[in-house]
Amino acid sequence: MNLGLQNKIALVAGASKGLGKAVALGLAREGASVAIVARDHARVESAAQDIRDATGAQALAITADVTRREDIQRAVDETIKQFGAIHILITNAGGPPPGQFVALTEEQWQAAVNLTLMSAVRMSAAVVPLMQKQKWGRIIHITSASVKHPIDNLMLSNSIRSAVIGLGKTQATELAKDGILVNSVCPGWTETERVGELMADRATRAKTDARTQFAAIENQIPMGRMGKPEEFANVVVFLASECASYVNGITLPIDGGFTRTAF
Ligand code: NAP
Repeated sequence: MNLGLQNKIALVAGASKGLGKAVALGLAREGASVAIVARDHARVESAAQDIRDATGAQALAITADVTRREDIQRAVDETIKQFGAIHILITNAGGPPPGQFVALTEEQWQAAVNLTLMSAVRMSAAVVPLMQKQKWGRIIHITSASVKHPIDNLMLSNSIRSAVIGLGKTQATELAKDGILVNSVCPGWTETERVGELMADRATRAKTDARTQFAAIENQIPMGRMGKPEEFANVVVFLASECASYVNGITLPIDGGFTRTAF
């Protein structure tokens, strides 16, 4: 299958490591040029170099914080300056902090809305007019399996990511006439560095080892293991491609069957 991603230009947020980096790498492997965004300058530069080395594709590193509107506009401007267009937008960032309802403050709610919802809103707002002009676009919002299957102690993620699903679904309805397709993907447990740190932290608190913590999660996944970042990325790359030309407005778990909902 020719995915038709040669000569496409992608802006991938939260992409110096983990899921975002895997997606950027996957797009670059298919011939797309990628602009990757993260806050840590050295790390995002090194990730761009990794992508160039692995694929020979063009990769631009942009040091920016997606909680800041001006940073988002600069990331879009730098991408346009370097590559001349943006065909694919992947919205993504770190997750909001854990916590139960009674422990969360108004400030934490506001910060999480800014990080998780408003980053997707602002990135879309900066890119959609460009996509409308070129009559072609793909927007993919990275959310979480928690939108289908709320996860204990993740009140902010469970609540605010659902708003991103509403955003994407409504964008899909409004923007299809302009050739812009919008979908949301919901990663389940995927073995990124962050998840490794999370399991190590749980192990310390439970006075056990990380392997035991991994096993406790893997027991809940029908496939008996966590996903790999590249398994997640493969699906996103397909959705970003010419081949996904009739896929619009979906909310797709990529979770090895973890989500038990029928729809
Ligand atoms: P990760 O390994 O921590 O990577 C997050 C990436 O986003 C990093 O490149 C980070 O770099 C960047 N980032 C974080 N905050 C940012 C900001 N404000 N502005 C710009 N870039 C930012 O996380 P991950 O495991 O890939 O997960 C990605 C997203 O999927 C998260 O929201 C996570 O909660 C969600 N998710 C992950 C899983 C999983 O199992 N991995 C499951 C469900 C949902 P800097 O820190 O340098 O900015």
